[in-house]
Amino acid sequence: MTPRHPALVDHIVSREQIATRVAELGAEISEVYAGRELKLTCVLKGGFIFLADLVRAITIPCAIDFMVISSYGSGTQSSGIVRILKDLDAPIEGMDVLVIEDIVDSGLTLSYLLRNLETRHPATLEVCTLLAKPARHEHDVPCRFVGFEIPNTFVVGYGLDANERFRELPDIWSVDNSKL
Ligand code: 5GP
Repeated sequence: MTPRHPALVDHIVSREQIATRVAELGAEISEVYAGRELKLTCVLKGGFIFLADLVRAITIPCAIDFMVISSYGSGTQSSGIVRILKDLDAPIEGMDVLVIEDIVDSGLTLSYLLRNLETRHPATLEVCTLLAKPARHEHDVPCRFVGFEIPNTFVVGYGLDANERFRELPDIWSVDNSKL
């Protein structure tokens, strides 16, 4: 496939692979939580397309809430600083909470988020991430559902950005920073 921009280097995951995997994840999640009601907690902005597709592949009742968390500055390196820019609208006490993430890299953001959500006493708390990098083991974050394990490279597309660009791409690409 020809990339739309010279900074897009390798085609990491195709739209067809994403569609197949999202359908599988939806079926798996529906089975695991059968007979219960799910609270999907989407981490914005990167998770918005994944959530939109995944929620339509889930066949049990779900409620949706959003959080905005900042872990990166404007570049592609983790700053180590995690801030909640927008919190959940409603309490999650006693609920089956499934955090929907776009990508887990070092796991820093997710470990912070999980510790924060645990203090609100959900009945269960699990994570579904579309993408996971090998470095995620650094913070030993438990991801119950993982779409794809990808190499340790910066990726964009399907909701993921580089300085707010490329979120709209239907496929996932690696990026050459020098050509941005
Ligand atoms: P972590 O704290 O796990 O190192 O990083 C998690 C967050 O950093 C993700 O939610 C995402 O916002 C951002 N991030 C990590 N790796 C990538 C990547 O390859 N591409 C993009 N666009 N964002 C990434």
